[in-house]
Amino acid sequence: MDYRLYIGSDAWRQNPARLAELEASGFRCRLCNDDGTDSPLEVHHRTYENLGNEQPGDLTTLCRNCHRVVTDHFRRLRYAQRMPAFANVRSALDNPSPLFDPTFKET
Ligand SMILES: [Zn+2]
Repeated sequence: MDYRLYIGSDAWRQNPARLAELEASGFRCRLCNDDGTDSPLEVHHRTYENLGNEQPGDLTTLCRNCHRVVTDHFRRLRYAQRMPAFANVRSALDNPSPLFDPTFKET
């Protein structure tokens, strides 16, 4: 399932678990209690295991601002497990191209 297509679809907007979570939250962000006035309400996937057939516990109502914070937090945790990619700058220094010439001096 294409996540982006699904999130923009009527199937997601009308998803019973999504609507039930909005109702259960009182149409308020579960983190900051905003009612969507300051930031639109969204429904966060706590898990993607049931994507397309979400169960009530899979979802959490968040305002867009809190959703970004939560998503960013989980991305940081996920990417913290990865080894950083190292750029090979040695070859660029040894064989400078016109776009990367450390010896270049403005006149
Ligand atoms: Zn919030």
